[in-house]
Amino acid sequence: MSDPRTFVIAGAGQAGRWVAWTLRQEGFAGRIVWFGDEAHVPYERPPLSKAVLKDEAGFERLVLVPEPKWSELALDWRPGQRIASIDRAARRVVTESGEDVAYDALFLALGGVARTLPGVAPHARILTLRTWEDALALKSALKGRPRVLVLGGGWIGLEVAASARTLGCEVTVVEAVARLCQRTVPPAVSTHLLETHRAHGVDVRLGDGVREVVANEDGVKLTLGGGATLQGDLLVVGIGLVANDRLAAAAGLAVGNGIHTDAQGRTKDAAIYAVGDCANALRGNGTRARIESWENAQRQAVAAAKAALGLTHDAAADGPPWFWSDQYDDNLQLLGEPTESMRVVERNVPAKRSRVFFFCDGARIKAVAAINAGREIRVVRKWIAQDRYPGLDALVDPAADLNKLPVQAPA
Ligand code: NAP
Repeated sequence: MSDPRTFVIAGAGQAGRWVAWTLRQEGFAGRIVWFGDEAHVPYERPPLSKAVLKDEAGFERLVLVPEPKWSELALDWRPGQRIASIDRAARRVVTESGEDVAYDALFLALGGVARTLPGVAPHARILTLRTWEDALALKSALKGRPRVLVLGGGWIGLEVAASARTLGCEVTVVEAVARLCQRTVPPAVSTHLLETHRAHGVDVRLGDGVREVVANEDGVKLTLGGGATLQGDLLVVGIGLVANDRLAAAAGLAVGNGIHTDAQGRTKDAAIYAVGDCANALRGNGTRARIESWENAQRQAVAAAKAALGLTHDAAADGPPWFWSDQYDDNLQLLGEPTESMRVVERNVPAKRSRVFFFCDGARIKAVAAINAGREIRVVRKWIAQDRYPGLDALVDPAADLNKLPVQAPA
């Protein structure tokens, strides 16, 4: 190879994949050493709580970079290897098996681990879902149509609930705060999610945390803060993700709910970048955020790979953040960052089972949540990019074709 540099990627999820991909895409001809702590080739996690549980997808459907692209990337791929330490002065990483590799740039794409309940001993009836093996274990447990208790009304909780319910299980979801997915969606969408799950027969308990968990060979018993008890055969714990930032902290990098970076993924060490779920990045408005999403992992990885190659990256050109979830027969997509102060305009098209919530600031649409309305998301993306919008009242008419509405720049 003409380029003598070695770039090391630690972590084999969506973020790691986009670092490797972008480096080659942008012409990097040096060595790429890629460590993954699982035994598998890099794979997609989104199907784990959906298609995999429902037995609609095997591992081959999840592979992130299938052949022949995988070979074309010319990677030095090291599966099943965890990095134990970083020697920043010598620019070397050392694996748990004692191997060390020198780097010119290091990308930490380490993701996170499923949060567990403090003070609750591990038990075969208490499961979390983060890896392929976790999904296989849960899939196998769901085959016996157990009564499923789900702790956490976030994305894992709701997608597992939908999959388990679709498979015919009795499902109860327990969420400590007053609404579902409180941190990631506005109230209108939480309400829609609640109605959907209840309509499918899920028992959703809001605003009540768990006081005690007892698991034994007979089942799992939850005692809630308010005193109610719930009996199930299985408990799925979906109470968030803990960023893998200890390796970085031990190396003296700045951490705190993830590894602190600038907007292009640089840590305080110019040779080390952090991207994806493990990164707590500086945003355009000067605040910091650790964003757990598939698309954000890609964006940050592309930006960091370019930064390491000395290329600039216009983050604004990426457009607003985007996110999706599939539950039952519904597809939910969220574009942009709605806030509670924005005016909500709802468009309801019952014939298509579609609902769209536009989040507006004056004449501008700042964000949109769309249920069974992927096409509408694409139209709004275009409006936001052009900063030209239709009259907001026209959005409500279910007969209106959004693509044909006249648009204009806000005054
Ligand atoms: P999550 O989306 O952050 O949701 C966790 C939920 O559990 C939150 O509602 C949280 O409330 C609640 N919670 C936290 N501690 C609790 C406790 N002790 N008792 C009861 N509830 C508690 O995380 P997740 O659902 O576990 O998902 C893990 C990761 O997978 C996330 O990164 C998520 O984005 C990702 N994922 C994404 C998708 C998707 O994009 N479609 C699907 C599945 C998983 P607070 O917010 O108030 O803390």
